[in-house]
Amino acid sequence: MRALVLGGGSGGTIVANSLGAAFETTVVSPTSEHLFQPGLLYAAFKGDERRLVRDERRLLKRGVNFLQDAARRVDLLAKQVDTAGGQRLAYDQLVVATGVGADYSQIPGLPEVAAEVGNYHSTVDSARRLWRTLNAFAGGTIALGQATPICKCPPSPLEGILLTDELLRARGIRDKCRLVFFTPYPRAYPAEPMSRIVEPILKERGIEVFTFFDLDRIDPGTRTLTSIEGDVIECDLPIVVPAFVGADIVYEPAETLDASSFVVTDPRTLRIKGVESAFAIGDGTSLSTSKSGVGAHLEAKVVAKTLNGTPAVFGGRTHCPFDVGGGRATFVAGTYDTPVVPSPPTRLKHLMKMAFARVYWASLRGLLDPVLDVYFRLTDPARATRSGSRELS
Ligand SMILES: Cc1cc2nc3c(=O)[nH]c(=O)nc-3n(C[C@H](O)[C@H](O)[C@H](O)COP(=O)(O)OP(=O)(O)OC[C@H]3O[C@@H](n4cnc5c(N)ncnc54)[C@H](O)[C@@H]3O)c2cc1C
Repeated sequence: MRALVLGGGSGGTIVANSLGAAFETTVVSPTSEHLFQPGLLYAAFKGDERRLVRDERRLLKRGVNFLQDAARRVDLLAKQVDTAGGQRLAYDQLVVATGVGADYSQIPGLPEVAAEVGNYHSTVDSARRLWRTLNAFAGGTIALGQATPICKCPPSPLEGILLTDELLRARGIRDKCRLVFFTPYPRAYPAEPMSRIVEPILKERGIEVFTFFDLDRIDPGTRTLTSIEGDVIECDLPIVVPAFVGADIVYEPAETLDASSFVVTDPRTLRIKGVESAFAIGDGTSLSTSKSGVGAHLEAKVVAKTLNGTPAVFGGRTHCPFDVGGGRATFVAGTYDTPVVPSPPTRLKHLMKMAFARVYWASLRGLLDPVLDVYFRLTDPARATRSGSRELS
């Protein structure tokens, strides 16, 4: 049985490594560089570039084929994929894990700002540029926020402003700087229970929050940010998390993609809507859960289980680590059926977030599965709700 996996990121690598010997598995991805994207945060705000990239071929278990190429057209009816390199690949089962990419074009002025300032949601080069920009900054207003409501790793905009605060304090210039966090949501964090935790932290650090700020355009000359409603933030340094869209792939039938080029996916079975022999996982899906590596991981395991012969369903579990600066972190955990449960930031959770960066590569090969299974069971938000504590410790 031929299994074709499109995308050699977190989700694609895990699903390929989890399929049984009954499959002849091939991963198709345009680059052999596997980027540990959470590391971009630390490259941009701490200048730490360790553990960022590994060769995808070495992350795949023996027997899984790797084809360096990009899918261009997926015909779900004929069960074949055409690639940029001119190949036509037939499959019995398909898993789409092509992630999302930054789309600067949605906000006039953002392409220029991103090129000059850098960001921490695209490439190592861009994160490096942001680190240099922040270190050259001598004082003034920094405005950081997300351009659109859908964001890869929902805590990452707040992590960015909190780590900016930490960096400016370390450089001894915090008193010369005004920090503004803008968001299209009605509160600092989209989920109210987490906002209740983070808002006092922002206040204590002197970070202003502009809510309901739907970014419309940026004037790269004056560095003025204007919202759709006409509100204005004037700043010296805009750091903008861009809009994200799905991979540039044409699907047959065309209704497979929604307006943002996300693959329309059944939230429970993870099958591409209406198709028996194709699944989608990770950031590139239309799922209403957070776009996170943890989500991609859990979804990959559900699909692998189903393909290996034990039909499984996804419960919408998220578990996003959230670095609040000052050596403390928390997790944003929820499911389709259990809303996000508040979880106070601690040093231990920060240590866990940092430890995961070291073991990420082993997790792709399934080496941590027994530990992670227990961990996700113990931290299941439904447990906290059932036990009446209404809080994850
Ligand atoms: C700053 C930052 C911090 C983050 N922090 C965390 C965190 O702490 N915890 C967490 O869980 N998540 C975090 N994330 C999110 C996490 O990195 C992503 O959610 C995760 O990588 C998604 O996995 P994926 O497999 O869906 O997509 P990706 O890992 O992005 O992989 C997509 C793959 O598809 C390939 N591809 C693209 N186009 C094609 C094509 N046409 N044909 C074939 N292949 C294609 C790409 O090259 C890539 O290999 C963070 C992200 C950022 C940017």
